[in-house]
This record gives sequence, structure tokens and C-alpha cells, in this order.
Amino acid sequence: MKIALTAEQLAFRDEVRAFLQPWKHLNKYLVSENSPDLMEFFRAMAKRNWLSLVWPVADGGLGRSAMDEFILWNEIAYNRIARAPHSVGIVAKTIVRYGTPEQKAQWLPRIRAMDLTMALTYSEPEAGSDLAGVRCRAERQGDHYVITGNKCWNSRAHQSDYLWLLCRTGEQSARGKALSLIIVPRESPGLRIRPIEVMDGNFFTEITCDAVKVPVENRIGPENGAWSMMGAALADERHVQFLYGRLRRDYEDVLNFVRANGADRDPVVRHRLRELAIDVAEAELQSLRVAVAVNDGIDAPAESAANKLVHTLVCQAIARAAMEFGCESAVLVDIGIEILWRQSMIETIGGGTTQIMNSVVARQRLGLNGTK
Ligand SMILES: Cc1cc2nc3c(=O)[nH]c(=O)nc-3n(C[C@H](O)[C@H](O)[C@H](O)COP(=O)(O)OP(=O)(O)OC[C@H]3O[C@@H](n4cnc5c(N)ncnc54)[C@H](O)[C@@H]3O)c2cc1C
Repeated sequence: MKIALTAEQLAFRDEVRAFLQPWKHLNKYLVSENSPDLMEFFRAMAKRNWLSLVWPVADGGLGRSAMDEFILWNEIAYNRIARAPHSVGIVAKTIVRYGTPEQKAQWLPRIRAMDLTMALTYSEPEAGSDLAGVRCRAERQGDHYVITGNKCWNSRAHQSDYLWLLCRTGEQSARGKALSLIIVPRESPGLRIRPIEVMDGNFFTEITCDAVKVPVENRIGPENGAWSMMGAALADERHVQFLYGRLRRDYEDVLNFVRANGADRDPVVRHRLRELAIDVAEAELQSLRVAVAVNDGIDAPAESAANKLVHTLVCQAIARAAMEFGCESAVLVDIGIEILWRQSMIETIGGGTTQIMNSVVARQRLGLNGTK
């Protein structure tokens, strides 16, 4: 498979690189919070309409290609500046697909300008890998929903303006066929959000909804129709979730660190570094395969799962290498290598665990269904 960027794509990449120059110090990719400097960066992107790069022109976007979006966020990842906010990706793209004209007018301009942030609130104590088992319930009472239940592991929900909440609007036994997506203001009475620090220094949250009242018009898409909407949103976002720019940067940092420590004088270390360089190149190819598929309008869940697997495994191998080579200072917190190790362990869980990704690849790419 030969993948080459076009002249226009290369020119766009250069434009992005020039734009990013003054933001390289930000360093909010690995450990991030909705801090004023990060918001300033996103607003600078918003001025160019780059947060809505691929949204349709009719919805306030630039109507550009998925490959351009991949190039944009891949460069941002390489420079460790930031991760793409969920509001401009999963949330906004779902509103573009399923929102009414009134909902589009209400939400899209503020999301595009980064005037609001949203947190994905899907997972629950008993429903992480098995999202179809969500129990948090929204009862319809006239022109409102009353929401009761618990959520957990929701990244930065305590700092977001709104929750993008997955909840049950029908029978528990109907599993994924009875779920809806509702936008809930973070300041709603009855909503309690407890931040939990994760081992990499980031925060996710535990959320309790105790009869939280939200207007019906905050539901996006049909009642009980969330499952297929979530699938469509995932398909729209596959190319920007696990970007090779991050791996390339991790590898370069570890290589420089190992060289500065003189460990690369050992031929065994040099051999291992070459192996890792090949792993990074393979991960790049996998990442580009997904980007090309999304760009061509092909839904590629197995390619995407394989990309997550290779990305997170190579990420961990790079992060551990400096320690394996005996560079003791790699474990010091301020050196910048140790955080790769802490953070790479978590990457294997968020967005679907390694075991779940293995199952997707086994079933969808290898045709194995688990029965004899
Ligand atoms: C850093 C981070 C950020 C996150 N951010 C968010 C967020 O913003 N919003 C949100 O809603 N959630 C978020 N999550 C939650 C994440 O999506 C879940 O942790 C993940 O889906 C796994 O669910 P669980 O933790 O309930 O584990 P479980 O589903 O209970 O799994 C426990 C173990 O069992 C294995 N397992 C489960 N089912 C199967 C199966 N069918 N076959 C084989 N093995 C299986 C898993 O692989 C895992 O090893 C985040 C998680 C992390 C770590």
C-alpha cells in the first residue's frame, strides 16, 4: 500500500507547522486540564475555523477532508500541544448529523468558537466495556427528563461546561436499543462531580445524578436512538484518536535521552533502538491506513482497533526502553521520560481496552467468532 500526501496536503501541513511555532511550549498532550493557556490555543485555532475544519460549510465549518483533519491533529500531537477536544469531534459531528436546525443553531457556533467545553459521560461502574448495559436513567416528565444514576472515569468532567451524557430511556433488557444522548449543564442542581487523579497526573471523575432536570430539547437525535449515533460518531473520529505523531515524538525523546546518557554505545541498545524505530514506522503505516479509509468514506473498525493496539503497545515499549537500557534517571519525575511510562499504561484502557480491541480484530478482520 503506497500512501503519499498530495501537494495541497503538504502545503497545509506546512501552514499548520508555522501556526504551531508559538504554541510548542504548551505541553498539554500528556497531562492536560482545561487551563486558560490551552483555551487560548483552541481559540487561536477557532479564529482559523480549524476546530470545525471538516464540518460542512452549511454548519459553519470549512468542509475540508478527513485527511486534512488528520494532518492537523497529527502535527499538534507530535508537538505535544493538546488533544482534540471531544466537543469539536464526537459531540459536534453528532449534532451535525442528527441535530435539528434549532439545536445546530444553539450549540455549533459556541462549540466552533471554543466558548464551551463538553465531557463524554458514557462509562459507569458496571458499564465500561459493556456500554449497552448503561443504567443511568432519564425519565420523561412532560417537557423535561429527570436523570438519576452514576457515571465514572469521565475525563475532566469537573472542568467542563456540559456533560454529553449517555443514559437509559427505555427498558434495561433492551440494552443498546434503549439509550439516548442528552446534553446536561454541569451546574445542574442534583449533579455531583468528584474529580479523581489518575496515575499520569490527569483527572477523571465520578458523577452522581440525583433527579437532575434537563429540558427535552437537550436530547440530540431520537429517543432510544443513541447506539447507532455513537457508532457513527466513532467512525467519524477513528483517524484522529491514535495519531502516529505522538509515537514519533516519544521515540525521538527517548533516543535523545539514551544518547545523552551514553547508553547507545552498547550495540545491544542500538539494536533495540533500531527495532523500536521499525515498530514506529509500522504504527505510522497503520495510522495512515485508518486516515485514508476515513478520508475515502470507508468505515474501518478492525483497522482502527488494530491501530489502537499497535499504537498503545509501541507507546509502552518506547516508554520502557530507557529504563530497560539502565538509564537510572529515566525514573525521575522531572526528566520527562518517566511520564511516558505512566501515561502509556493508561492509554490501553481509555477508548476501549486491549482485550476488547483484540476481539474486534479477531472477529472482524480474522473472521473468528469464538465458537468451535
Ligand atoms: C484515561 C482514561 C480516560 C477515560 N475517559 C473516559 C471518558 O472521558 N468518558 C467515559 O465515559 N469513559 C472514560 N474512560 C473509561 C473507559 O472507557 C473504560 O475504563 C473502559 O471502557 C473499560 O471499562 P471498565 O473500566 O469498566 O473495565 P471493564 O469493562 O470492567 O473491564 C475490566 C477488564 O475486563 C476485560 N474485559 C471486559 N469485557 C471483556 C470482554 N468482553 N472480553 C474480554 N475482556 C473483557 C477488560 O479488557 C479489562 O481488562 C476512561 C478511561 C481511562 C483509563
